[in-house]
Amino acid sequence: MSMSSAEIRTAFLEFFKERGHQIVPSSSLIPGNDATLLFTNAGMVPFKDVFLGTDKRDYTRATSSQRCVRAGGKHNDLENVGYTARHHTFFEMLGNFSFGDYFKREAIGYAWTFLTETLQLPKEKLWVTVFEEDDEAYEIWAKEIGVPEDRISRIGAKDNFWQMGDTGPCGPCSEIFYDHGEDVWGGPPGTPEEDGDRYIEIWNLVFMQYNRQADGTLDPLPKPSVDTGMGLERIAAVLQHVHSNYETDTFVALIKAAAAAVGTEDLQAQSLRVIADHIRSCSFLIADGVLPSNEGRGYVLRRIIRRAVRHGSKLGAEGPFFHSLVAELVRLMGDAYPELVSAQGRIEKALLQEEQQFARTLQRGMSLLEDAVADLPEGGVLAGDVVFKLYDTYGFPYDLTADILRERGFGLDQAGFEAAMAEQRARAQQASQFGEDYNARLSAETTSSFSGYSEYEGQATITEIFRD
Ligand code: ATP
Ligand code: MG
Ligand code: MG
Ligand code: MG
Repeated sequence: MSMSSAEIRTAFLEFFKERGHQIVPSSSLIPGNDATLLFTNAGMVPFKDVFLGTDKRDYTRATSSQRCVRAGGKHNDLENVGYTARHHTFFEMLGNFSFGDYFKREAIGYAWTFLTETLQLPKEKLWVTVFEEDDEAYEIWAKEIGVPEDRISRIGAKDNFWQMGDTGPCGPCSEIFYDHGEDVWGGPPGTPEEDGDRYIEIWNLVFMQYNRQADGTLDPLPKPSVDTGMGLERIAAVLQHVHSNYETDTFVALIKAAAAAVGTEDLQAQSLRVIADHIRSCSFLIADGVLPSNEGRGYVLRRIIRRAVRHGSKLGAEGPFFHSLVAELVRLMGDAYPELVSAQGRIEKALLQEEQQFARTLQRGMSLLEDAVADLPEGGVLAGDVVFKLYDTYGFPYDLTADILRERGFGLDQAGFEAAMAEQRARAQQASQFGEDYNARLSAETTSSFSGYSEYEGQATITEIFRD
């Protein structure tokens, strides 16, 4: 069977509607009920207060396709984008939720039925994990569903125990993986090779059954709940018989549009994947009211836009191109997300403006570089902190600075640059200890929660491209 992303989304929601779930539209990427969270990063976010019992709905079962962003904050997949087959900054999480209604047995049964009957996935391609102490889930998978025991693994708390915060609702998870086959590198869940792209986690079932007290004890919840999340792009890859999310319908179309916009014919270029990913997160963030700025959410948005622009220039883009991809995105996703359609003009304008401003910033960076170089003796070495400032403040890739200096017969203090970079990373790490508690600190230390793009990924044509 082959299904489009739109068909899968509909099939999922209908499946759960038939089983008594209320279809709830996607919420905004800006969490309305949680000032501590950077972006909506899971389907359960809009239901957080329902799980906590402080919000009541007139349903006890819900299903949604929630738009999510994982860039910055506790879950940051930005640096995975373009490198793994399965990570995006923006993705859609299909979920079903039980608020004190059904529990493990039904949640596992629904997931299995949807995958193997509705979507007709071959059972032998599916692997599952349970939390190491969760014998109940293990037994359901092994005895009731009939998954062979060599395809069930018990995993520790790091990956298979979920909690909302240091206290409050929490519980074990069970994850379902799909085996993409021998021609893809990677190992089964729980092995050192699991980070490869062969066995891909498609669905995570969270069984909220405890309330963690301040002293760490776990009190059973009187009415346990369920929260599940399946990445639409990952299941689309499975159903479209491709090994990478970037080869699914939505991404192929975006990659083609991006290739045309930057003027390359190499559809395999990794940079195109990055651009195709980033146009989605940037557009949806702007649709939800974020604008590029120097702090907080706006800063994260700015860095994503610049990363995309940088990759475009790497491929030879001559001038602003990123904003021109919005039309294709609206064509692809507008039906499912009407808010994207009405925001189209606003998104294009904001992106174009940022592209132009980035061009000017790059020029200012050039003049800073010129000034710094003017003070150097013949054959001198540019200090690492200046190189870092160019990188961090002016968005100059390390390689670009290195190239310009080399052309003029100067050197560069690489160790100093790396030290400055390491210092920034240490700050970022400190900030990430706040975990989900994204807070006011982010605005004070704008670079902190966002370690940005890999520091050596620039290329030399960028200044020419952005010259007015
Ligand atoms: P992974 O281990 O692959 O990073 P995860 O365990 O962090 O995934 P969960 O937090 O369990 O992911 O989210 C539920 C589901 O959402 C995952 O099973 C996956 O299908 C999907 N998902 C998670 N992160 C991403 C992402 N960055 N891009 C696309 N889909 C994602
Ligand atoms: Mg992850
Ligand atoms: Mg995982
Ligand atoms: Mg998971």
